[in-house]
Amino acid sequence: MTAEANLGPVCPSCNEPWLRPSTLPGRYRCVFCLHRFELRSVCPDCGEHGTIVRMSESKVMTCNHCGGSLLAEC
Ligand SMILES: [Zn+2]
Ligand SMILES: [Zn+2]
Repeated sequence: MTAEANLGPVCPSCNEPWLRPSTLPGRYRCVFCLHRFELRSVCPDCGEHGTIVRMSESKVMTCNHCGGSLLAEC
């Protein structure tokens, strides 16, 4: 397993690529700083309803409108 293949979404808290999906849908946990996050359908920054871009790899969890993160700590 290469380090590159192991990289996941970047944690908004520690900026390390260690976000991992938790057992609950839409929930993520950073295995680096152990913070928990929830993927919002509405942007916490600008209030825009996010149509979350489904990239081939679902690593992109940013607002189409302002580019902010749709992850909220919970
Ligand atoms: Zn983190
Ligand atoms: Zn936004």
